[in-house]
Amino acid sequence: MRKIIVATCNEDKMKEIREILAGDDIECASLNDENLSDITIIENGSTFEENAVIKAKTISEITKSMVIADDSGLEVDYMDKAPGIYSARFLGEDTPYTVKNNYIIEQLKNAKGDERSARFVCAMACAFPDGRVITTRGTVEGHIAYEEKGNNGFGYDPIFYLPERQCTTAQLSPKEKNLISHRGNALREMYKRLKGAEIL
Ligand code: IMP
Repeated sequence: MRKIIVATCNEDKMKEIREILAGDDIECASLNDENLSDITIIENGSTFEENAVIKAKTISEITKSMVIADDSGLEVDYMDKAPGIYSARFLGEDTPYTVKNNYIIEQLKNAKGDERSARFVCAMACAFPDGRVITTRGTVEGHIAYEEKGNNGFGYDPIFYLPERQCTTAQLSPKEKNLISHRGNALREMYKRLKGAEIL
C-alpha cells in the first residue's frame, strides 16, 4: 500500500479524493490524520497552480514524503473571473456559503444565457522530497443558477448549474460529481502521470 499525504484539512475535499482513488492500493492521509492541522501555509501565489505548489512543497519539506495538494475555486466570467483563487476567502472565510451564493446570484441579476458562464478550476501539485514537482489542471464548465438548488457537495455547488445535465453539482450524487468534476479531472490526470512515471 502506497501512502500519499494530501495537504488539506478540508474533509469534504478528502472525501472526494479518497473516492476518486478508491480501488487502488493507495492510502490518503489528510493534514488532520498526520497531526499537521496547526501548520499555517501562506497561500500567496497569484494562480491556482502557484498556490497548489506552495501547499504541496511546504508539507513535503516537513514530512520528507510525497505530498499532493490542490487549489481550487470558482471563476464567474460576469464578475471578471472572481472569486477565483479567493473563493474560500470571498466575503470572509467564515461567511456561510448561502450568503456567498446569493451574493453572486444578485451580482448576476442582469446576466442572461451565456453571460452566466462560470467554471470550477482545480490545480493539483505533487511534490517530492527531492524538490521535484508535477502539476495538473482540471476544469468543469457551467452557468451560475438563478437560485440555490441541491444538498450534496459543498461551497458553491448549489449555484453551479450544468446545462447538459439540467441540474447543479449539488444535485449530483458524490459519484456522479467526481466523474465530471474539476478535482476529479485534475486528480485523474495526476494519477496517469504518476503511473506513467512508475511512481504509483
Ligand atoms: P482552497 O481550499 O483554497 O482550494 O479553496 C477552495 C474553495 O473553492 C472552497 O472553499 C470552495 O469555496 C470553492 N470550491 C472548490 N471546489 C469546489 C467544489 O467542488 N464545489 C464547490 N465549491 C468549491
